[in-house]
Amino acid sequence: MRITAVTGHIATTPFDYGNPAGPGGNLHLRAMDTLLVKVETDAGITGWGEGFGFTLVQTTKDALERLVAPAVIGQDPADIAGLMKGLFRRFHNFGRNGAMTFALSGLDIALWDIAAQAAGKPLHALLGGAKRAAVPAYASLLRYGVPELVRANAAKATARGYRHIKLHEVEVPCIAAAREGIGHDRIPLMLDINCRWDSVEEALAFADAVRPLGVRWIEEPVWPPEDARAIAAVRARCGLPIAAGENCGTVEDFRLMFEAGSVDVAQPSITKIGGVTGMLAVQALAAQHGVAVVPHCPYFGPGLLATLHVLAAMDVETPLEVYFADLQRAPYPALDPVEGMVAVPDGPGLGLEPDPACFAS
Ligand SMILES: [Mg+2]
Repeated sequence: MRITAVTGHIATTPFDYGNPAGPGGNLHLRAMDTLLVKVETDAGITGWGEGFGFTLVQTTKDALERLVAPAVIGQDPADIAGLMKGLFRRFHNFGRNGAMTFALSGLDIALWDIAAQAAGKPLHALLGGAKRAAVPAYASLLRYGVPELVRANAAKATARGYRHIKLHEVEVPCIAAAREGIGHDRIPLMLDINCRWDSVEEALAFADAVRPLGVRWIEEPVWPPEDARAIAAVRARCGLPIAAGENCGTVEDFRLMFEAGSVDVAQPSITKIGGVTGMLAVQALAAQHGVAVVPHCPYFGPGLLATLHVLAAMDVETPLEVYFADLQRAPYPALDPVEGMVAVPDGPGLGLEPDPACFAS
């Protein structure tokens, strides 16, 4: 089998995240955009991947189509490990974290989709087989910055059946409002700080303030995200679990975090870390270090779908991150959680075809 074409396709959709003002205000997103990577072969099998996108989609599409596509057309898609190692080496001086590696991550996911289709099996079968028919989702709420909105949306997520909720709030009254909206203590809160605090001391003061609110983890507590020693210092002193890793560009970045003792929970992003291949490498490394893996996947294309297959095959039940936002034109409407659960597709490859209506062009 040979690769005959590699193209990028921008999926874009309006969304409603439970803010009557709509996207805007303190939210930088006006629409949900992502880059789907389509890989065609001479065997008639087409694979789909996803490169981390949002407002970077056009840049990642350029990297994919100008650099990656000419390098892989004519190659055998079955040699995923060899092909990807060669590409990461060939393009390493254009950035080990960014549009270049996001494009390569999308390619890798598409190659795994092709491999699974060629084998006539769902992707999870190539990863050890599904241990469950459905995976719990965690509602990843966008930042509202207004206690009343946080309270209302936490209540709505609870009513929709989610049993895990993450906030992107940094003000304690907003976090306390979420707990009020949930109405009980049985749903733990994950608190994603997105590197807001400039010092270990600021992060520790925040941890003290939120400690009584039922915290599952604090995510990316300090700036900059690669300061593994600062994250480790927060972890050593705050007494709450620490999660990080969505901004790691390479498996080696995770190794540094693990060796520094930075995290309880590693969060590799399949659309950034080198696709399924990178995800498997991080999982193996995390296991060696006794660190849990809960992937980062607040996107809605083949990267989310591939992460679902990864989680289905994991021994430990692990929740799938799903944006708490209703998309007008989702590539995969079947991935909408029902009672907080997402069914694992069982068809060949990724098992779902993107709805063409999601594409901008
Ligand atoms: Mg995060």
